[in-house]
Amino acid sequence: MQAGRKVGTLFGIPLLIDPSWFFVVALVTFSNGTIWQATYPEWGAAVAWSAGLIMALLLFGSVLLHELGHSLVAKLQGIQVRSITLFFFGGIAAIEQEPKTPGKAFQVAIAGPMVSFGLFLLLSGVVLLLPGTESPPQVLLQRLAGINLILTLFNLIPGLPLDGGQVLKAIVWKVTGSQFQGVHWAARTGKTLGGLAIVLGVLETFGLSATLGLPEVGGLWVALIGWFVVQNASSYDRLTNVQEALLKIRAVEAMTREFRVVDAGLSLRQFADDHLLGTRAPIYFAVSDGRYRGMVLVEALPNIEHSQWQTKTVFEILQPLPDVPTVQESTSLMDVIRLMESQKLPRVTVLSPAGAIAGVIDRGDIVRSLSQKMNMRVSEEAIAQIKAEGSYPLGLQLDAIAQAAARNEE
Ligand SMILES: [Zn+2]
Repeated sequence: MQAGRKVGTLFGIPLLIDPSWFFVVALVTFSNGTIWQATYPEWGAAVAWSAGLIMALLLFGSVLLHELGHSLVAKLQGIQVRSITLFFFGGIAAIEQEPKTPGKAFQVAIAGPMVSFGLFLLLSGVVLLLPGTESPPQVLLQRLAGINLILTLFNLIPGLPLDGGQVLKAIVWKVTGSQFQGVHWAARTGKTLGGLAIVLGVLETFGLSATLGLPEVGGLWVALIGWFVVQNASSYDRLTNVQEALLKIRAVEAMTREFRVVDAGLSLRQFADDHLLGTRAPIYFAVSDGRYRGMVLVEALPNIEHSQWQTKTVFEILQPLPDVPTVQESTSLMDVIRLMESQKLPRVTVLSPAGAIAGVIDRGDIVRSLSQKMNMRVSEEAIAQIKAEGSYPLGLQLDAIAQAAARNEE
């Protein structure tokens, strides 16, 4: 849902509008215009339709204020808000990472409905103060107040991706101490409620609700919202499964021993002849006196005069061990990814508790161990391609997934 067009910036947050939003504006203008023209013939067509359009824009404003509620509370907690997007089903505030505690997650989640409820109270009050009855401003504001009440109640339905789902997540997180349990529960209720909405909506569309003694819910529209909720709840669930796996997998499980060890005292000539002509291992570490000295920078070899290859040793092209980016065997894959992405590294080196080189991890190794943990099949050819390209396949945004996880594990 990030595909929107940027139309401005509010409190430093880019405001995006998805093309599907214009469809909603047209729909709201049309439905209100038609109803008001019929209900209040004394208004005249021009006034009724203008009021319909103004209604659509005020709805836009209400949704925007709701999203700003979430966004500003997140910003107060020091969380970056990437964007606010308005689209077919309402608005989305894309925040950079999870709040750190269940209490803070609760505050971000409840802020939107609180704004909507506040608007309901405010607008209801203004309607009471306006003189006369059934003037266009009165009818308009009355309806807008009603819509804000619906926004409040609808969003508080306790299933992800709705705010009520975020609230439920925060509560389960608080009670169980596990953020992941919170997401799983809230996603489960989201999927259940969304599925129920699809069934009821479809039955009603086919005129079967009354026959079966089921409530009327709003037909195809509700089925569509149900589908949207199920899709999003499922993706929350999947995302959380990935984050859980990344936290559980230790570097020692993901690493390979795709490296070779050479003598640091070897002449560059000898090193090139012995190791770079045949099938080459991608990584070399150099030892001397029984200790690891560093990683061989094979790419630095051409910078050294050919005539000096006989006299100079591998020491000349060594990245000293303290400068090599390393992790411990017990480091989580989550932290391995964060380190690799923050420093734009092609790989990290894993050290044993004794400080020896235990293995190396590149992006291919990360995808392999993650897919094994999650029982997904990824072919060795695909892994080889990731290793060769040094980047994750399109659509697998592990860096963003690792960044988004709450850092409460620290
Ligand atoms: Zn909300």
